[in-house]
Amino acid sequence: MSNSRPRQRMKPCCMELEGGIRNRGLRMTLPRQLVAQVLESADGYLSAEDIYSIIREEYPAIGLATVYRTLVLLDEMGIVNRYNFGEGRARYIAAEDQTAEHHHQLICERCYKVIKYSDFSEDERELYKKVESVLSEKHGFEIKRHIVQFHGICPDCRKESQNESSNSDV
Ligand SMILES: [Zn+2]
Ligand SMILES: [Zn+2]
Repeated sequence: MSNSRPRQRMKPCCMELEGGIRNRGLRMTLPRQLVAQVLESADGYLSAEDIYSIIREEYPAIGLATVYRTLVLLDEMGIVNRYNFGEGRARYIAAEDQTAEHHHQLICERCYKVIKYSDFSEDERELYKKVESVLSEKHGFEIKRHIVQFHGICPDCRKESQNESSNSDV
């Protein structure tokens, strides 16, 4: 019998999210720490069930209800962001201001993989600066930050659907 290893090891630390929890005057509890760790090392939007199943591998005493309550609290505190993609359950990601670098996101509507990028081209930087200044003029609104998400189909899912359509041709 081979050793069964957790499929996703949790990072030993998650400085940004843990800092966010403490900065907001919240006590650091084990469930908060674990949920923060899972979300910080995730490369996609996770549902409460996804988070629970990762935590359960090492901490079976923590129940799904605790994960739900923790997520509600972290969402209220702005430490995580909650999204609804219309699949009947929420998905969560570490809030943008908890991560070090400003980035934009490409989100796959099929597998919910999120590609974060921060290697902006000069054109992109100029464009967003311009959009911000036009908007702030038009609405008399002082813009402090922005979140940019593009929704679509990732390369893997595109490949899959191409395979499917070529199979159905046969
Ligand atoms: Zn940006
Ligand atoms: Zn995909």
